[in-house]
Amino acid sequence: MTSPPPDGRWHLQKVTRNPWGEIPLTGGGEFLNQHAKRYYERLLGFAEATDTDARRHHYVPKTHLKRWSSDGKRVWTLNTDTGALKQLGVNDICVAENFYRVIGPDGEAHNRVELMFGAVDEEVRRIQDILLALGKRSDISFEDFMAAGVTAALQRMRTSQSRRLMEQQDLWWREQQADGFSSPLAHEDPLRLNNIHTESLFHAMWEAADVMTTRQLEIWDDLKGRFLTSDAPVQTSFVGDVRPGLNAAKTIWWPISPHRAVAWTNELAGEKVVFKRATTPVADKVRAIMLQGRDRFIIATQEQLRTLPAGKPIPRRAQIRLRCSQHQPSGEYVEPPGCVVETREWYGSAPSVLLCNNGLHRHVPELASHR
Ligand SMILES: [Zn+2]
Ligand SMILES: [Zn+2]
Repeated sequence: MTSPPPDGRWHLQKVTRNPWGEIPLTGGGEFLNQHAKRYYERLLGFAEATDTDARRHHYVPKTHLKRWSSDGKRVWTLNTDTGALKQLGVNDICVAENFYRVIGPDGEAHNRVELMFGAVDEEVRRIQDILLALGKRSDISFEDFMAAGVTAALQRMRTSQSRRLMEQQDLWWREQQADGFSSPLAHEDPLRLNNIHTESLFHAMWEAADVMTTRQLEIWDDLKGRFLTSDAPVQTSFVGDVRPGLNAAKTIWWPISPHRAVAWTNELAGEKVVFKRATTPVADKVRAIMLQGRDRFIIATQEQLRTLPAGKPIPRRAQIRLRCSQHQPSGEYVEPPGCVVETREWYGSAPSVLLCNNGLHRHVPELASHR
């Protein structure tokens, strides 16, 4: 395992046996194995498929939500905007109108991306079935290990929350008239963000494959069924109120049923899967992470209701945070009075903007109300 020291040079810390006997890196798609390759080809095939009339798009698959349901139809929800507990149908949660409606290269709006995500939903079901069946005496193939990582990374970004955060960021940037900020479509276009979000999902999918597959896969079981899910089901813990990126996060959590959570950590054990039993402190920690990470809705079983902070609104959730920095993302120093605006996600009740007074930034008062 290598990690970059503060001076930016890399040094070897520890060598762990690679349990896969192959290098789990996709190199942005160049080193894809056969299964993953077929999967991506199938997704991209939908780009040429006939359009669909479906207008309501789930961003968390129903198969996932149903694991918290006792009748296969309804789940308990905590609306953190109001504090209200309510039983809702899985058809009616984590759904948005025209979430994936985009403008194609021909300038026509279409819903083919939704068809594409239909294939992703199928893959979520397949991967979750494999992960739910995994036991100490069973095995997971390298292909499925990789697909699990990519599927979770895609789910992490494919939410109303990442759309909302993108909207906040967009609102600020479009007022800056900054060099290098070019909008692919007119601002007035309601589908503009859909296009940007969808495109970034595909970029992230490639990058995530590399991040996720170099991590340790852990399966956490809880006999008491204390794992929650939410409208943002793949989570990393906020550190000092700031959410680390996929790369920097110590652990990436994906509860796949009340009794089982999947985790990707950077503590390599040299084994394909590490099985763990969730103690009360771990169950409490994962609950806290899911609560902080949700956008609006926590999804729970009836038994889990008494552990939820119901009755009053929870005003804080993920928001963008803008700060001036003297360093480029690459680490390169920027001479003052120049600066670089660093965008992070933080846990707060509104976007947080704290920038220098060098005359480089325009104030965007409107942003405060975009929570
Ligand atoms: Zn806009
Ligand atoms: Zn500045």
